[in-house]
Amino acid sequence: MESPQYVRLSLAADMTLGFRPGRFWRNARMSCINLLLTYADGCRANCAYCGLGRERKGQIRSFIRVPWPTRSLQEVTERLRHNGIAERICLSMITHANAMRHTIEIASHFNKTCPQSISCLLNPTITRREDLVLLRQAGIDKIGIAFDLPTPILFNKHRGKGVRGPHSWETYWKRFDEAAEIFGPGNVGSHFIVGLGETEQELANAFQEVKDRRGENHLFSFYPEAGTELEDVAPPQLDAYRRVQLACFLIDEGLSHSSRFVFESSSGKILDFGIAPQELDKVVDSGYPFMTRGCRNSKGRVTCNRPFGNSWPGPGLRNYPFQPNREDIQRIRQQLAGLEEPEWTIPRSHCARISPAKERQCNE
Ligand code: SF4
Repeated sequence: MESPQYVRLSLAADMTLGFRPGRFWRNARMSCINLLLTYADGCRANCAYCGLGRERKGQIRSFIRVPWPTRSLQEVTERLRHNGIAERICLSMITHANAMRHTIEIASHFNKTCPQSISCLLNPTITRREDLVLLRQAGIDKIGIAFDLPTPILFNKHRGKGVRGPHSWETYWKRFDEAAEIFGPGNVGSHFIVGLGETEQELANAFQEVKDRRGENHLFSFYPEAGTELEDVAPPQLDAYRRVQLACFLIDEGLSHSSRFVFESSSGKILDFGIAPQELDKVVDSGYPFMTRGCRNSKGRVTCNRPFGNSWPGPGLRNYPFQPNREDIQRIRQQLAGLEEPEWTIPRSHCARISPAKERQCNE
């Protein structure tokens, strides 16, 4: 059951395509189907936080905290053709010798058979410049590059030599620039995960770098996976995550610049966003900074909304897959002020699914 005949789907994508029953909290709708290439010998990299890492302990193969069932490409294609909700397909590569060849093959297949636009979450380590041209010719219009970490030191520690991994900071930026040139401004998105030991200042500087290099920023909140090196690290504090979301939005929309921000010298915490307080109020009230950031459609609306992709539904929700309502905004304001921090607990049902050791821990 390997690619290209088979792909894995996120749990949410599996529900959206009707492979399993279920509805999303507050009737959220998933408008991008996330697919992952799959091989018996798995990903050859070893990123410290990733459920697909080569040295992950145990037998559980969750990824971004949920199972990713394997489905035949043919069945997925049939369902995509008749799905009225999904506007985009996102193909995620892993570090594997066949991943580039199969990504081109699968993208080309979807381009000929399905109405959705196609994105690719690229693996820069196994990509050459000419591959980017082939991906574009195969019908892909957006590229994602998951730096995940905002500095070379942290990148190396969690993805490179620090974990006996193959990735390099320089290669990621080289591919980013090439992708921006080949796919055009606004069509290359970076991914950053908040909560991996970085400061808010480091993130803001990385967002600005991406913006200056004609890209966009997509944000994730760290969530620990059992069996990985970082399994016991808690997600980032909510007030910090909200500030980082605001910073990212202001920079991407050109409403401020990281050089105008004021940071606490000892911690790098953002103290001022470099815009007038009344302007900042309007931005917060719009709710947009707190919505999921991802690939957009031709009208500029985010289609990759990943419902509940990195936190559980409820008051501690990190990325809103829909526009926050008035009550949500009030809660976000409390969170920004550091007045509301839901306690970090791993739900028991989740523990049972991912590891017996974690389940015991949860029951205690
Ligand atoms: S390359 Fe991607 S899939 Fe592989 S271990 Fe790193 S983050 Fe996970």
